[in-house]
Amino acid sequence: MSASSPAFPDVSSADFDTLERMAMACTRCRLSDSRTHVVFGVGDRSADVMLVGEAPGFHEDREGIPFVGAAGKLLTTLLEEVGLSRSAVYIANVLKCRPPGNRDPLDDEVEACKDYLFRQIELVDPLVIGTLGNFATRLILARSVGISRLRGQVFPYKGRAVVIPTYHPAALLRGTSPAKLEEARADMRLIAETLAERRLAVAAAGSSSGADGDRAGAEESASQLELF
Ligand code: SF4
Repeated sequence: MSASSPAFPDVSSADFDTLERMAMACTRCRLSDSRTHVVFGVGDRSADVMLVGEAPGFHEDREGIPFVGAAGKLLTTLLEEVGLSRSAVYIANVLKCRPPGNRDPLDDEVEACKDYLFRQIELVDPLVIGTLGNFATRLILARSVGISRLRGQVFPYKGRAVVIPTYHPAALLRGTSPAKLEEARADMRLIAETLAERRLAVAAAGSSSGADGDRAGAEESASQLELF
């Protein structure tokens, strides 16, 4: 299925409110049958940091908000430890509806839902995207390598954004080793440090070239990562 399928409206030019309305009414995949709420996203729609998780869980499905359970509390703590407030970032998932029993997303569900996420990223236009876990990282980076080999690194993305993968907070709660929690803390520090660097690059480009320079400077900075 794709956004251009005659069966479903194209989301590629939708504004934020329209996109959210489309997701709220979505029946693109089987998960529409079992969901309580569509969990579209939460936070600052013009944030410099966007976090992408996997799918809603039990509490998210009940409340319609991403990361409100124990994993959400841990995510909030990890953000605050590096000086980022949850309200200052935008948070969304790969899937907008809960898979029954919190099972892993299926390939056709990700395929059906991914247009919403990619349009959200375009609209937020962040400087840094933190991908939480394997599903978000695989989708955003289009790589099948596991999260433990990709975490803690900075990857170029389209436009001015870069991607920094880290563990999903729910995985950190599942009896994982203390070392993994420390790795997640290090990844959050990398997100905060990279954000600060990229804001400086944007400001420097803006002061020398005006508004167009902001974007050009940020995009050049992101593309230089491909040299690493
Ligand atoms: S998971 Fe995504 S594609 Fe499937 S019904 Fe929900 S919003 Fe639509």
